[in-house]
Amino acid sequence: MSTKDIIVIGGGPAGITLAKRLGRHFDMAVIRPEPHSMIYCAMPYAIEGLLPPEKTFKKDELVTASGAELIREHVTSINVPEKYVVLESGGILHFQRLVIATGAIPLIPQVPGARLEGVMGFKTQEDMETIINLCRNGLRNAVVVGAGAIGVELVQALRTRNIQVTLVDMLPTILGNMLDEDMTTAPTEILAREGIQLALSRRVSALEGSSRVSRVLLDNGQAIELEPDDSEHPTLVVFCVGVRPELTLLKDTGIEVGPTGILVDGRMQTNIPYVYACGDCVQFKSALTGEVISGKLATNAVPMAKVLAANLLGEDRVYPGFYNGAATKIGEVYVGSTGLTVSAASRAGFNVVTGMGKLFTRFPVMPDVRPLTVKLVADASSRRIIGGQILSGVPVTAQVDLLTLAIQKKCVLEDIRDLSYSAQPYQSFFPANNAMVMAAEQALKALRTQSELSENNEREQTPPLTVGQPDRS
Ligand SMILES: Cc1cc2nc3c(=O)[nH]c(=O)nc-3n(C[C@H](O)[C@H](O)[C@H](O)COP(=O)(O)OP(=O)(O)OC[C@H]3O[C@@H](n4cnc5c(N)ncnc54)[C@H](O)[C@@H]3O)c2cc1C
Repeated sequence: MSTKDIIVIGGGPAGITLAKRLGRHFDMAVIRPEPHSMIYCAMPYAIEGLLPPEKTFKKDELVTASGAELIREHVTSINVPEKYVVLESGGILHFQRLVIATGAIPLIPQVPGARLEGVMGFKTQEDMETIINLCRNGLRNAVVVGAGAIGVELVQALRTRNIQVTLVDMLPTILGNMLDEDMTTAPTEILAREGIQLALSRRVSALEGSSRVSRVLLDNGQAIELEPDDSEHPTLVVFCVGVRPELTLLKDTGIEVGPTGILVDGRMQTNIPYVYACGDCVQFKSALTGEVISGKLATNAVPMAKVLAANLLGEDRVYPGFYNGAATKIGEVYVGSTGLTVSAASRAGFNVVTGMGKLFTRFPVMPDVRPLTVKLVADASSRRIIGGQILSGVPVTAQVDLLTLAIQKKCVLEDIRDLSYSAQPYQSFFPANNAMVMAAEQALKALRTQSELSENNEREQTPPLTVGQPDRS
């Protein structure tokens, strides 16, 4: 039996990136069971009806165009010492080097009733199609648990289909990992205006129903009624509370894992010299604090795979860690965030200073002007930028990426204050100001005020010198 140079287990963004970059150079195979790799990020919009579900399917050519072989199979075990994988069909494939890119699967908390029909996570093509079919088959009421980006995108999609939906989260605000509380007011109001019921600072304590879920119980005793047990209408509870790494295959392999994934170094190497891992299945650290944090994003999985591909081609590159630049959209507001929020920065031990820039997306004399808010988070001692949040009436990813670059390059508040920006009536505020610059100026002003206050305090504590008498201290 022939031996592949490289076998990749997993056909998500990490596996596809490896195929694109390595397929021409090695005899390699990508193994994944599902009929299509998915554009997961677009699934809420297919549920909404904005695009046909098939548009969320990625083309197999993304893997095969480079010459990589695509094997549609489930791997059932890995024999590390003898360097082969076993397929569900019984076949065996030998490798010289193995990459594990098995991703992550949604967490469903083990509350009573979690196995009732109608309770699900949201990740796969099947999940998307199940929700679409429920909508077509008379779904009237749904509960989404988890007000992160996926949860808020899903509730809006369901609401667009005229379904009564409640969004539950244990945190007091939506998008708790992306935004500080003061940035959530406008997006929260939009969700409420769209008719989405919010149950914040609440945990699901139990799900009830005879065979399918019909009632969601919260920890304050509140019950969200979905449908009576004998109703002909289907019911739906979707948990979007995070994911756990898919590590089933690693059992008894000797490949080391941590609580949030496979342990790898910056070169994406596991403790076994010829086994690598990248994407959602690995545990990695924040590039800012060096602490292990969650970073289960395609925008982290792909760069990890690029670093690994470069190294397998002979370069020596190191993945720096997660910055977690991310974006979502709530109604007409585009939301972006990068680095640390104030609460994450405080937890990490930073003494934080913030600044806010509030302007408009166009010259205010132009038609269709929308508000724009930029919040900067910086370390008060070094003035280094450590986070940023944006709310805007126009897409924000370019600004999020600029802020991430500022964090990556260790820029300080003065660098953003001195940013040389552009302006044009359709595309920015007047040349007179820029929201990012304004936020930096405000943060610097806050620092000056702080230091003046502490100087004054010191002065007040020192007894004033009396004129004409020598200082005897
Ligand atoms: C609804 C939704 C919206 C999202 N939106 C965004 C977004 O806007 N921006 C963003 O950056 N990220 C987003 N994400 C997250 C992003 O999709 C993931 O971070 C990304 O898919 C991780 O890529 P991966 O290749 O590591 O793993 P995955 O994409 O999870 O792929 C894992 C692959 O491994 C395969 N596999 C697992 N076990 C086996 C086995 N035993 N044998 C063979 N194959 C196996 C799986 O079948 C799959 O092909 C979203 C996710 C969801 C669910």
